[in-house]
Amino acid sequence: MDLTLSEPYQALQAEIRAFVADYGHLSPKLGGGRKRPDQKTLDWQKRLLEHGYVGRTIPQEYGGAGRQPDIMEASVIASEFARANIYAGLTNQGISMLVPTLLEVGTDEQKRDYVGPTIRGDIIWCQGYSEPGNGSDLANAQTKAELKDGHWIVNGQKIWTSSAHYADMMFLLCRTEPNASKHEGLSYLLLSMKSDGLDARPLKTMTGRSEFNEVFFTDVKVPETQIVLGRGKGWYVANITLKHERLMLGDAGKTNARLEQLISLLSKTEIDGVPLIRMPEYRDRLLRLQGEVLAWKAHNLRLLTEAAQGIDSGVKRAIVKYGGTMLGYRLSSLAVDALGSAGLPYESLGEDAEDDDATTWNIDYMYDVGLMIGGGSSNIQKNIIGERGLDLPREPKFVAGMR
Ligand SMILES: Cc1cc2nc3c(=O)[nH]c(=O)nc-3n(C[C@H](O)[C@H](O)[C@H](O)COP(=O)(O)OP(=O)(O)OC[C@H]3O[C@@H](n4cnc5c(N)ncnc54)[C@H](O)[C@@H]3O)c2cc1C
Repeated sequence: MDLTLSEPYQALQAEIRAFVADYGHLSPKLGGGRKRPDQKTLDWQKRLLEHGYVGRTIPQEYGGAGRQPDIMEASVIASEFARANIYAGLTNQGISMLVPTLLEVGTDEQKRDYVGPTIRGDIIWCQGYSEPGNGSDLANAQTKAELKDGHWIVNGQKIWTSSAHYADMMFLLCRTEPNASKHEGLSYLLLSMKSDGLDARPLKTMTGRSEFNEVFFTDVKVPETQIVLGRGKGWYVANITLKHERLMLGDAGKTNARLEQLISLLSKTEIDGVPLIRMPEYRDRLLRLQGEVLAWKAHNLRLLTEAAQGIDSGVKRAIVKYGGTMLGYRLSSLAVDALGSAGLPYESLGEDAEDDDATTWNIDYMYDVGLMIGGGSSNIQKNIIGERGLDLPREPKFVAGMR
């Protein structure tokens, strides 16, 4: 197989290398990314948008570069940013999950109002899906919205809502059709986090930081037009968003970038003057992970090819979420081992801890455990792969009184 890049892709590669040489020093630090983006990150995002390195295939009228999807271009851009160890642009629930959902099923007005500001990082979104009694069983969501005088009146509670403490907007899955079946009774609303009656209370994760929240709704008013696709279509829309969430969480470009960071860490960390990357116990683990990341990139390219051909990748996306988050966790596990005693400063990881190498890897290591649960737990992904991909019998349903 000839893996040489053809001429247009070589030109793109050269263009990005020139960009990195000119502007690379302005890149924000890698890692973290679970706080509201600072001005440096917003400026960088704007620069990437101007060059079409992010938002590349989003139509120009909605703030993107309006290019045709091209998997080789996407792959060259991701590889060059990973190789240069610089920030490849914001990924968050708005950019990676809501924007593609609105582009697929939003109204023209919703696309105009939200896509541009979201990809610029000016609007930060959070995802209101999980509830205290309904996480894996998402279709059972009980937060309700009733239509009265041109507004949805929302009452109920969400939980584990990442970023809600600094988000501007929420996409919310709620029950609007109480008499319809479980799946057909849901709708998908877009609402301001500044709404009266909305109370977001931060919860700490084991990183020691407040990364998600419980959110309470008491008669929160949302304009009637802030519904996506229509009444009772929430389950359909929520699944479009979930499809993109699973791809975001297992993203091969990000995994590759973390591998490059790990190689850099193992190269500069020494014991008795010998870099860890030269020591067999570290090199063996690294090589194994490197092989898996390569396989991961190939799987990702297959999905991108199918997407470009309009083929629904179906269950292969669940594999991305399941495998990508496991791989991410193993990458950060090796980093934490390599950091030795610096890999254990659990007590010191306060809200404002400086994001140096050790802090970033430590936080990633702990947060990666959460990523195997968020967006649908690994168990649920395995059910999907087994039942829908391998035609295995369905999991027995829990029956009250059964032990
Ligand atoms: C870091 C993090 C960030 C998150 N961010 C968000 C967010 O922004 N917005 C949001 O809405 N939610 C968010 N969540 C919530 C997440 O989506 C839920 O935690 C997840 O879907 C699991 O739901 P649950 O916690 O209610 O667990 P449960 O559904 O109660 O599951 C408990 C355990 O039982 C297992 N289980 C449940 N059902 C089955 C089954 N049928 N077969 C086999 N095993 C099963 C699960 O795998 C899990 O191990 C986040 C979670 C984490 C950890």
